[in-house]
Amino acid sequence: MDVRNCKSCGKMFNFNGGEPFCDSCKKKLEEKFQQVKEYVRENPGANMNTIAEENEVSIAQIKRWVREERLVFSSDSPIGLECEKCGATIQTGRFCEKCKTGMHKRLDSAYEKKPSSSLDDVQLKSNGPARMRFLDR
Ligand SMILES: [Zn+2]
Ligand SMILES: [Zn+2]
Repeated sequence: MDVRNCKSCGKMFNFNGGEPFCDSCKKKLEEKFQQVKEYVRENPGANMNTIAEENEVSIAQIKRWVREERLVFSSDSPIGLECEKCGATIQTGRFCEKCKTGMHKRLDSAYEKKPSSSLDDVQLKSNGPARMRFLDR
């Protein structure tokens, strides 16, 4: 028997594969997932912070569900996950369609978009060189 400490509450529990959480935390997490799923369905316009706050769940956890493709945001949702390869905005999973289908021709444009929201804000506010370059033909 494999006894471990629950990653969430620290309690000792009998580990038998899967996620390193005790039964009660696993159950709580599953309930949380259903709650978040429901919330996202009813509030398609909610962003990541709002979902996290309203459901008292960490953004990291929400992202984990999305990466597992359990949680899917609608295409008009403001939520942007980053493709792990190019940083493009995606709705679910780990990679954008382009990377999924193996179209890497325009890698140069990927470098323009840094996967950081704070940087995006700066670019939107200023008319800096990074923004100008998008206008080049
Ligand atoms: Zn626990
Ligand atoms: Zn990509």
